Amino acid sequence: MIIVLKPDVTEEQIQHVIERVESLGLRAHLSRGTYRTIIGVIGDETKLQAEPLAAIPGVAEVVPILPPYKLASREAHPLPTVVDVAGVKIGGGHVALIAGPCAVESYEQMETIAAAVRRAGASILRGGAFKPRTSPYSFQGLGEEGLRILRAVGDQFGMPVVTEVMDPRRVELVSQYADMLQIGARNMQNFTLLSEVGKTQKPILLKRGMSATVQDLLMSAEYILSEGTSQVVLCERGVKGFDPATRNLFDVAAVPLVHQLSHLPIIVDPSHATGRPDLIPACAMAGLAAGADGVHVEVHHQPEKALSDGAQALLPEQYAELAQQLKQLAQLLGKTISTLEPVQ
Ligand code: PEP
Ligand code: MN
Repeated sequence: MIIVLKPDVTEEQIQHVIERVESLGLRAHLSRGTYRTIIGVIGDETKLQAEPLAAIPGVAEVVPILPPYKLASREAHPLPTVVDVAGVKIGGGHVALIAGPCAVESYEQMETIAAAVRRAGASILRGGAFKPRTSPYSFQGLGEEGLRILRAVGDQFGMPVVTEVMDPRRVELVSQYADMLQIGARNMQNFTLLSEVGKTQKPILLKRGMSATVQDLLMSAEYILSEGTSQVVLCERGVKGFDPATRNLFDVAAVPLVHQLSHLPIIVDPSHATGRPDLIPACAMAGLAAGADGVHVEVHHQPEKALSDGAQALLPEQYAELAQQLKQLAQLLGKTISTLEPVQ
């Protein structure tokens, strides 16, 4: 950490800053320039993270050297983390295809879609039972009945399942059914929820908040990791943009950036990022080309009848074509697409 002092800082103020740093067991290195005086702090910078150093008289700016997240950082863990979702690997060269409808609507709906995405090569089945809807009058999901259906259909097709948990009070319930717990964009900074899902030690799919920076995303991951698990997959699902032509703005640069900053896998969700089936394949391919460890896509066999996000769903045949292209690209990139045993 570097403490930049104000041009008119007094000698007493400089001494006060040095004493404060040293009182925390760190060394202060004073450097007087022609225009500015700075103090380099040597030692475990994390001890200072909670200190309001910028409020000390004479201090102009405090510049951290280390990122505020530790467990999520590349420095802490140079090798990529491989997350294991009931045998399906994500990260470290393993790419997972996650697909399914936005919401679980019925057994028949899930069975039809699971059969199609499984045949296309998806290895994890998704479906929301508790839906975070903008309007309280929209379909809120089937709740526990939805979890039961998702689990049963996952088992029928030998697919691990991922579903969203929105409420810390339901973490235990959702954990009984799901192989992976999803934290939705709207809850990325629900810190109580993050700690609760971390305690389950289950793999977590953490979606980027729609107005969250990459650093915010990694800080949220830190909450989960600090519960003692390493099984976190990040998800770029678009951030708020200014142009209503797409639902969100797909931040593809976040993928290689996260790989630079963190050892955690990151997947892309071009469905929520674009909200447009015609743009999903290109953005899915762009995400994979940028280094994504997985691609998450919403699929529905009757989008016009879907109870949630029908307008952005790919038809099963469109998904099959995309999955084929993703497999070819993954091969070109030297990655392994995680596959399941052939369907009986
Ligand atoms: C979802 O995956 O269905 C969902 C609601 O996504 P997000 O939280 O990214 O909006
Ligand atoms: Mn959705």
